Amino acid sequence: MKNLAIFGSTGSIGESTLAVVRQNQKILKVYALAANQNDKRLLAQCLEFKPAIAALVCPQAAARLEKSLKAANSNTQVVCGTDNLTLLAKSDGYCTLVAAIVGAAGLPSTFAAAQAGKKILLANKEALVMSGRLFIDTVKQNGAKLLPVDSEHNAIFQSLPAEYQNDYLNLDIRDFGIHSIILTGSGGPFLNQPLSSLASKTPEQACKHPNWSMGQKISVDSASMMNKGLELIEACWLFGVDTDFIEVLIHPQSVIHSMVRYIDGSVLSQMGAPDMKIPIAHCLGFSDRIASAADHYNFIDGCDFTFKRPDYQRFPNLKLAKQAFKAGQEATTVLSAVNEVHVGAFLQGRLKFTQIAEQNERILNSYSPSSVFSIDSLIHIDQHARSIAEGALS
Ligand code: NDP
Repeated sequence: MKNLAIFGSTGSIGESTLAVVRQNQKILKVYALAANQNDKRLLAQCLEFKPAIAALVCPQAAARLEKSLKAANSNTQVVCGTDNLTLLAKSDGYCTLVAAIVGAAGLPSTFAAAQAGKKILLANKEALVMSGRLFIDTVKQNGAKLLPVDSEHNAIFQSLPAEYQNDYLNLDIRDFGIHSIILTGSGGPFLNQPLSSLASKTPEQACKHPNWSMGQKISVDSASMMNKGLELIEACWLFGVDTDFIEVLIHPQSVIHSMVRYIDGSVLSQMGAPDMKIPIAHCLGFSDRIASAADHYNFIDGCDFTFKRPDYQRFPNLKLAKQAFKAGQEATTVLSAVNEVHVGAFLQGRLKFTQIAEQNERILNSYSPSSVFSIDSLIHIDQHARSIAEGALS
């Protein structure tokens, strides 16, 4: 039996994780569920999955949840606040963390789980983008395990040799006959829209992804391809390579989730329906295969596969992410932070879609790289960058 803590349980990845748990109740058990403020959704999840602990950041929402659980005679104990979430991530009650909080808010708990030597199923790419080397080193030093939930990284992982998979953070990918990685992305809802129309795109249009159903932040990031930029950085840290080792290709159908080129010319890929339950089930079962309840991809009724190179004029955020990775940790932390602020401002109608990348670039260019040594200094850089971005908006 694997005991799970699902952080971000009320979100898109959290719900998909619980759908996989529902299929595999003999081997997966929920110890803790955590979210920000959605007490209604968390209540329903607690009543179904009966975790020992439920955590919410918002005190009012936590109080409502506690009251409702008591009324339902539930034994689930409620904790509240960011610090308690971080403490919970270190607790002995569970072995596997599904890190599915959105944005920088996920870093403290994910980092705490790494310090506590947990198995981390990482969806929260921003945590890795923000903390890079420090996070990977913390995982390694504490005997923690890291498995990529992000569909592309999961596809890359699945396409690599088993020998490499078993200890990949300590091995050099080039020793396994790997030539390069192909990171695919759909190009999002604006791939074929006139460039001149992008400035007037609404949040609703940006969040309407052609293939995937996801939370708002990642949906906007997909429309601007910042998501692919963050994924590029994530892949560099996970697989110990530079951005030059990774080719980004647009594959609008989202069936080939990424590929690995071998030195003999072979290309291995992982394919499947665009459904996050598949990579989540892969990680939850690893190294066994378990049912995910996702549909099997039908090649006869499915569409043709096409590919093209991303256009930096349409997707300037992708270029920015590459630049930031080359500039160093401070730059990627700043880029992730200010992008989160600008996406939030776009969703609130305070910025135009095209201004997300413009503002990201403006702030990124005003930073000069420096050495970063601790999680606290990274969080400080994140908060400082956010305050600059917020200041420019007001
Ligand atoms: P959602 O917006 O759907 O869900 C976000 C979750 O995080 C919710 O449970 C939310 O709680 C919680 N949360 C938000 N802020 C805080 C906070 N300050 N403290 C604690 N919990 C918080 O996001 P997604 O599920 O789409 O994405 C989650 C992560 O997974 C992101 O990093 C994303 O990039 C990554 N990812 C997502 C994919 C997808 O298909 N959705 C694919 C690959 C990666 P509440 O509901 O209470 O607000």
